[in-house]
Amino acid sequence: MLQEQEVHAAEMERTFIAIKPDGVQRGLIAEIISRFERKGFKLVAIKIVVPSKDFAQKHYHDLKERPFFNGLCDFLSSGPVIAMVWEGEGVIKYGRKLIGATDPQKSEPGTIRGDLAVVVGRNIIHGSDGPETAQDEIKLWFKPEELVSYMISGEKWIYGDN
Ligand code: GDP
Ligand code: MG
Repeated sequence: MLQEQEVHAAEMERTFIAIKPDGVQRGLIAEIISRFERKGFKLVAIKIVVPSKDFAQKHYHDLKERPFFNGLCDFLSSGPVIAMVWEGEGVIKYGRKLIGATDPQKSEPGTIRGDLAVVVGRNIIHGSDGPETAQDEIKLWFKPEELVSYMISGEKWIYGDN
């Protein structure tokens, strides 16, 4: 049984999700966490941090040529961020669906940005956009020992057991 659980856990994907300073200041931490939790995804790491500007530049390195890069990095480092790792089948791609399109004007109602944000520069949440980015971002934000692997007793009610 334990072996089965270990195999199941090994198949599980992980993604990096951050509530940006606007989401924290607007009191949306619990709201955002609950959307991932209610879906059936599992929280395996969480902390509150104020990233330095240098750290924000590392996080958004792929956008360094964009005109909004400097403002974006200033903003990400302007206050507390909730950094998290979520685990589950398909969590990288589906996490992006829960989040909605980058521009909240284009995000569908029912998504986090669609329901809770209005402009692209204050879209309250970050989520990794693919498996490689997820791995890199988890490594940037967390030490390996900050990630906690555990079973939830009701997991078979989410994934089944056969
Ligand atoms: P995401 O993966 O959906 O967060 O979008 P991107 O990786 O393309 O961009 C990262 C972040 O940069 C977005 O979440 C926005 O906060 C910001 N951003 C993206 N495009 C624009 C833009 O055109 N203008 C401004 N001001 N910010 C932008
Ligand atoms: Mg992105």
